[in-house]
Amino acid sequence: MDCIFCKIISKKIPSDIVYEDDNTIAFLDISPVNKGHTLIVPKKHSENLIASEEKDIHESLNVIKKITPAIIKTVKADGWNLGVNNGPAAGQIVKHTHFHIIPRFSNDGLKHWHKKSYAEAESKQIAEAIRKEI
Ligand code: 5GP
Ligand code: ZN
Repeated sequence: MDCIFCKIISKKIPSDIVYEDDNTIAFLDISPVNKGHTLIVPKKHSENLIASEEKDIHESLNVIKKITPAIIKTVKADGWNLGVNNGPAAGQIVKHTHFHIIPRFSNDGLKHWHKKSYAEAESKQIAEAIRKEI
């Protein structure tokens, strides 16, 4: 399997690791949105969040809680975003589940997502359709 994150996990290629335990690794993104941009990655390979085992997701969330204050303190960020891209349409490039911690600064110039609106009754129909699918 040709997975860049599996190669980082097995140390076949180098990375700037900030945290590692038996199940999870965290390293700096090679092309950061802002300085300190960190990827939290379950060591067990799975293609995306839905395909991941619950245990691995829980462990990653625990690591996010544990290390994010240190990231924010180090780069003196004003806030941070937690991001998960799922599928190419959502910007997922690496097909190994990962979480982005993106430090944010009041003056970093990044814009939040452009928002849309629903037609009348459309939100009720969509919510009902989702409830039926669950
Ligand atoms: P995605 O778009 O799949 O959610 O995010 C993948 C991230 O991995 C990107 O932000 C990209 O910059 C980062 N990345 C890709 N290849 C490497 C690499 O070899 N080393 C590191 N540290 N980050 C990488
Ligand atoms: Zn992998």
